[in-house]
Amino acid sequence: MHGTDGPLGVSNIPDPQPVTRAFVQSCQEAGIPFNHDFNGRTQAGVGFYQTTTKDYRRCSAAVGYLRPVRDRPNLTIEVGCFVKRIAFEGTRATGVHYFNGKEQCRARAESEVIVTSGAIGTPKLLMLSGIGPAAHLAEHGIDVVANLPGVGENLNDHFGIDIVAELTGHHSLDKYKKWYNAAITGLEYMVFKSGPVTSNVVEGGAFWHSGLGTGEVPDLQFHFLAGAGAEAGVPGVAPGSSGITLNSYTVRPKSRGTVRLRSAAPGALPVIDPNFLAEPDDLKCSVEGVKKSTEIFRQPSLQKYIKAIRFPDDSVKTQKDFEDYVRQYGRTSYHPTCTCKMGSDEMSVVDTQCRIRGLDNIRICDSSIMPSLIGSNTNAPTIMIAEKASDLIKGHR
Ligand SMILES: Cc1cc2nc3c(=O)[nH]c(=O)nc-3n(C[C@H](O)[C@H](O)[C@H](O)COP(=O)(O)OP(=O)(O)OC[C@H]3O[C@@H](n4cnc5c(N)ncnc54)[C@H](O)[C@@H]3O)c2cc1C
Repeated sequence: MHGTDGPLGVSNIPDPQPVTRAFVQSCQEAGIPFNHDFNGRTQAGVGFYQTTTKDYRRCSAAVGYLRPVRDRPNLTIEVGCFVKRIAFEGTRATGVHYFNGKEQCRARAESEVIVTSGAIGTPKLLMLSGIGPAAHLAEHGIDVVANLPGVGENLNDHFGIDIVAELTGHHSLDKYKKWYNAAITGLEYMVFKSGPVTSNVVEGGAFWHSGLGTGEVPDLQFHFLAGAGAEAGVPGVAPGSSGITLNSYTVRPKSRGTVRLRSAAPGALPVIDPNFLAEPDDLKCSVEGVKKSTEIFRQPSLQKYIKAIRFPDDSVKTQKDFEDYVRQYGRTSYHPTCTCKMGSDEMSVVDTQCRIRGLDNIRICDSSIMPSLIGSNTNAPTIMIAEKASDLIKGHR
């Protein structure tokens, strides 16, 4: 059971687009039962997503947690800063070196350093600070503070593949790409806090079975977008027409990637290798996701709106065609995690209290400490990790 009365704003989509309702109906026509709450007892089924929004606005961690306490006298918030290195005295973390946009600064930690740079930024910062695989640090001339081979290993992410359909008319949010429609709906939102601006676009979704696994828990997740071409790298529809998109991914992929340093310069971007589809099962499951997506688009409720499925087009028929499509159009679903995993084996980076193994006064409290990728979206679970970590820091178990 869960509630919606915590610091993090959680809402139901106030008024889903008719085409999203048709998606939900089409899934049921394709054999996926309705589920009114994916975050409740049962994950399997189709329904409308809950969103981290409050009063019709996005509720980020900053809005939900920081803004209400920003006037506390014992809190200083500095924004636009870039942390270059964590400072150590022996194995004890003593603060951070950072650039505030004007000058190089140093913050001293009276009690602890809490690292929350995310699944890419955290392993990078750790390695720049001498915490990571000793041989890799040596390659870049970085002195080793702690030889932790798991830093930057075990990168887990969801590999999503989209299908796109062109609609018979302007039935999706794409109609608001026209400036006059955008102006009217913008005004509606400003005055009434209602209308399409309150939409998160990804209004509907489903969790279901590929048929390849044990069948106990869903191994596929679907995100329905009441629009097309909204995301970089995802095909759209012809200019002037409207579309819809259905994204699917394997919820518990087996492939593991890495985050490595490109150089010892703090400003250099890291080398990210998601290693998608390294495991053959991930490819098989991804193909089933695309096949199920096209099956959903072909059901009567959505067919009323669809002129043609544009991606994949009719030439994609055989298993090999689908595999090629997956390889060509698959992409990150923005859920990188697990690069500093929690655990007790040699590859673990933090213990069950989020403390970095072998070091003092330093914890990691972000998505990088997940031991394995959770079977859904990662934002709210990361905030949950941080909530738990704050209890641990205060000394509550
Ligand atoms: C485009 C996109 C869409 C997404 N959509 C969803 C969604 O719909 N639902 C969902 O559940 N999840 C979604 N996610 C995933 C979700 O945002 C992440 O899982 C979550 O933000 C992870 O939180 P984190 O604290 O681990 O890392 P982050 O939120 O990435 O926070 C890390 C912060 O550290 C900062 N940082 C890194 N290095 C340094 C440094 N050296 N110095 C100073 N600051 C530094 C970064 O700029 C960043 O602000 C999406 C992600 C993206 C990118």
